[in-house]
Amino acid sequence: MNLHEYQGKEILASFGVRIQRGIVAQSANEAVEAAKKLTEETGTGWHVIKAQVHAGGRGKGGGVKLAKNLKEVEEIAGQIIGMNLITPQTSAEGKKVHQVLVAEDVYYPGESETSEFYMSVLLNRGTGRNMIMYSTEGGMDIEEVAESTPHLIYTEEIDPATGILPFQARKIAFNLGLSGTAFKEMTKFVSSLYKAYVESDSSMFEINPVLKTSDDLIMAVDAKVTIDDNALFRRKQYAEMRDLREENPIEVEAGEVGLSYVDLDGNVGCMVNGAGLAMATMDLIKMAGGEPANFLDVGGTADAKRVEEAFRIILKDPAVKAILINIFGGIVRCDRVAQGVVDAYKNMGDAIQVPIIVRLQGTNAELAKEIIDNSGLAVHSAVQFQEAADKVKEVLA
Ligand code: GDP
Ligand code: MN
Repeated sequence: MNLHEYQGKEILASFGVRIQRGIVAQSANEAVEAAKKLTEETGTGWHVIKAQVHAGGRGKGGGVKLAKNLKEVEEIAGQIIGMNLITPQTSAEGKKVHQVLVAEDVYYPGESETSEFYMSVLLNRGTGRNMIMYSTEGGMDIEEVAESTPHLIYTEEIDPATGILPFQARKIAFNLGLSGTAFKEMTKFVSSLYKAYVESDSSMFEINPVLKTSDDLIMAVDAKVTIDDNALFRRKQYAEMRDLREENPIEVEAGEVGLSYVDLDGNVGCMVNGAGLAMATMDLIKMAGGEPANFLDVGGTADAKRVEEAFRIILKDPAVKAILINIFGGIVRCDRVAQGVVDAYKNMGDAIQVPIIVRLQGTNAELAKEIIDNSGLAVHSAVQFQEAADKVKEVLA
């Protein structure tokens, strides 16, 4: 589950990580009130107005702007709230902005220069350990840094038995070229950031930029946080931060009825039991010249009710030109699934306008084929994998 910047910062602050302070606002008026309050707390009259959407690169798309007085706060907030923000990380249509973060300006001039660093914490799947990735090249596209100057990206792996050790935090501060107050600030920043990542059950924390202010404070100016979905049951306070407006509506609906569904760009809908078989089915569709419209794992119980729910979810995608049902009857018997498909089809009446190919394999597969073939419905049956692929090809032609 992804979070907004302001939510990520809330978590960071609760673990003692210094952040650029801000208040979230739903309207231009609220933004002005937020700015006034921040000025009281921080003394700064300048504010940055930051669009809160689940996408990076907001600055490039015009979603992050500096306001030098309250009139500008009102103008800019009014302009950003309600806009369709297009960034390198959104689709071409962009993302609708519902709220902004009004934040204190932290790029004020002072004794020393400001510097922007990159830092993220994530799992290294190769070694099975968490790692901190960091770079002196912050503020910009880290993918580009990785491409053109990979030697400027460092990684520090953390032993799960000990957690981050003081020498590791010092090494990071040293590699970032810091000394004095900023060095000490960075060691504290790194240790608290790592603690926040572990104790919130996150799979990613990306802070870009980490800022060294002109008075040598180290703080998070941005926060991109992903909480592990499988941990949400024990992290209720974070589960409540979910913003469904940011998620794919079909995926949200599928989740509500307990289907594991991922929306994709293709034209062949898939209904499969088991994630591995679902992946293999998507390969099969590609080999037959189609493109999968979704990943859908119906799970263990493929009865009529479940099949009907899956049909309804798949058909919400207007790009679907055919549906391939590929079910292995191990625990569930194929004839029961076949009956489920037939019943669901009949229940749905005219809602199904695309050809359906059903491949059932496993217990009572032959009986299942008979049920499908004798149903009198526009459903094609197959027993072999290849046979199913050929039929997909046939109906797409
Ligand atoms: P992103 O574009 O979605 O990654 O959003 P960020 O939160 O990283 O902000 C984008 C850029 O806005 C940063 O890299 C900074 O250069 C700039 N920015 C953020 N906060 C401030 C601020 O307080 N003052 C000024 N002048 N610029 C800021
Ligand atoms: Mn950023």
